[in-house]
Amino acid sequence: MVVDVHIEDHGVGEQAALERCENFLQRAVRTNPTVQFMLRALREAGCPEAKQDTATVLAAPKQRLNSRIYCRHCEAAVGGGFQDDGTVILCANHIRSQAMASTTLVHELIHAFDQCRAYVDWSNCVHHACSEIRAAALSGDCDWIREVARSHFRIGGQFRRCIKRRAEMSVRMNRNCSELEAREAVERAFETCYRDTAPFDTIP
Ligand SMILES: [Zn+2]
Repeated sequence: MVVDVHIEDHGVGEQAALERCENFLQRAVRTNPTVQFMLRALREAGCPEAKQDTATVLAAPKQRLNSRIYCRHCEAAVGGGFQDDGTVILCANHIRSQAMASTTLVHELIHAFDQCRAYVDWSNCVHHACSEIRAAALSGDCDWIREVARSHFRIGGQFRRCIKRRAEMSVRMNRNCSELEAREAVERAFETCYRDTAPFDTIP
């Protein structure tokens, strides 16, 4: 398991949040082109996670989708999580919009893709950093920076800084990586992993 996601009993408010999350999830899979592209890429790479390809989901929405991608209540202050058994979790209590659900889903599917295509040792801070850099760059986590950068030419470097900051935050949650190790791991992995945009041709 990469990110500690604590599962609790669901109260009334949590039940409503779970239903909202399920709706976001279904809609993301049905309508978001980037989510659909990632699911297709997983399938084409022969990854087990690819069972949630769009066609299957449309044919049998809940059963199939819920077998691998879950909405859950999370204690940790994260939007989602990825477990090394291939499970993707969306944190129902932290996902507040359709856009956030789609971005989080793409982020976690990048981790699934990385684990499927290459040997990833999640206890290795540099391995983990590489996947977080890619997930942050490719999911749209920092797209608001790009929006601003378009109108302010001089702050183009902010996008990279945003990726680094977010990747570092995630690696710090890895119990095997101290703050210092997380920062160093992100620095070491950055240039190579930022350039590696697979399965996309370029940062979408
Ligand atoms: Zn991540």
